[in-house]
Order: sequence, then C-alpha cells, then structure tokens
Amino acid sequence: IVHIDNVTKRFGNVVAVDQLDMKIMAGEFVTFLGPSGCGKSTTLRMLGGFENPSEGRIVLDGVDVTSQPPNRRDVNMVFQDYALFPHMTVGQNVSFGLELKGKSRPEIERRMAELLDFLQLSGFRDRTPDQLSGGQRQRVALARALAPDPKLLLLDEPLGALDAKLRGQVQIELKDIQKRTGKTFFFVTHDQEEALTMSDRIVVMNAGRVEQSGTPEDLYFRPESRFVAEFIGETN
Ligand code: ATP
Ligand code: MG
Repeated sequence: IVHIDNVTKRFGNVVAVDQLDMKIMAGEFVTFLGPSGCGKSTTLRMLGGFENPSEGRIVLDGVDVTSQPPNRRDVNMVFQDYALFPHMTVGQNVSFGLELKGKSRPEIERRMAELLDFLQLSGFRDRTPDQLSGGQRQRVALARALAPDPKLLLLDEPLGALDAKLRGQVQIELKDIQKRTGKTFFFVTHDQEEALTMSDRIVVMNAGRVEQSGTPEDLYFRPESRFVAEFIGETN
C-alpha cells in the first residue's frame, strides 16, 4: 500500500501540491491527469524521493520513507525529460540498475536483451543517447526503469514522444506487464483517452489539488465538477 499522507509541496510561494491525501492498493494502475503545471510531476518526484514534501508523509508498505533517498526505496521512475546517463550507451543505461542490484552477468545480458527487444531497441544497444531520436530515448528510459523490476514504478508521460502506432503497442504491453507482475504503477499523462483505457484509477488534478479520484467509469459517466467533465470530455 502507498499512502500519500496529507502532502503539500511549496516552491517559494508557489504551492505545487496542496494537501494531497490518498491511499493506493498494491497492484493498482493509477493515473494522474490534469493540465500543465497542476503538480503531476512534483507528486511523482516526491513518491520517488527526488523531492521532499514541505508537509506530510509518504508511507510505502507501512514504512515512512519521507526522508529516505531514492535508492532506499523499491521504486523506479521514468522522468519526463528521460534523464538518461549521457556518457553511457543504451545497453549500459539499461543494465546499470541491474549491476547495482548485484545481478550476474548472464542474467543482466538476458534481461537487457529481453527489454531491448520488447521496446524495439535491439539495434541501438551501443549508441549513446545523443545518437537517438526522442522516441528512442523515451523507450530507453522505460527499459531502464523496468529492468530492476521495482515494486513501484513511476512513469511521467512515458509515451509522449512515441508515434501513434508504437504508442498503442506500448500502452497494451505496459498494461500487460503491470497486470502480469502485480506491480503498482503511477502514470502521468495529458491524454484523457490514454488515461481512460489504461487505468484502474484516475486522479484528476487541478492547481495542486485533487478534483476527483475514481475509476475511469466514474470520471467519464459521473464527473463531479465542470472541470472534470470538460477535461475528460476533451478530445485531442
Ligand atoms: P506538466 O504537465 O507541464 O509537466 P506538471 O503537472 O507535471 O506539469 P509540475 O512540474 O509538478 O507540473 O509543477 C507544478 C508547479 O510547481 C508549477 O507551477 C511549476 O512551475 C512549479 N515547480 C515545479 N518544480 C519547481 C521547482 N523546482 N522550482 C520552482 N517551481 C517549481
Ligand atoms: Mg510534468
């Protein structure tokens, strides 16, 4: 269980996240949906330990991890700007987390080959990030985050740079991985259709606050505010 316990994050006098309070069951696919600047990335970064809450606590499986650094949490993140290691090849980026975990060389090779194949990156293994397109970089970030098999995966707009066809494929595969492995996914997207098709629960945020949280059906058929109705009803 993930408990976001009344968390507020301020940057100077900007309130990025305002008294966010929710409990998420293990194995849920949760999507944060909302306009630019509403606090989605900040929420994910606090869950990952890359940002400290100004107030409140983050509790993972009953343990207060609020002041624990990212490497002490069984959590991995795909960042909105990918944050790949620029001096490492694709293969090294993906295997880094596995090496940290002390996996054996054959196991690292097997896992890496599997992920590169899954994300259609097998031909790019020896390139560095600056030799890749945006969509390819995004897929490397996804492979790197999936590699060590964390219990909790934080995905900040992980499909935004993919073309429609690949995006559809990766959506299905990601959902499948999540179901098969029973991992908890926190997913951020701007795309309401993506949120509706992939999520067990959608959290609609607006200016740092939760407008409404519920199943895709709840939000689609029973929006509680005009904001939610308009945001969910919008088509791209
Ligand atoms: P987007 O959809 O554009 O990625 P977001 O919902 O992810 O937006 P956040 O990145 O969480 O939004 O930002 C929430 C608010 O906090 C914004 O007003 C942003 O300007 C502010 N903010 C975020 N990070 C910082 C920072 N390091 N310093 C100051 N302000 C910040
Ligand atoms: Mg963001």
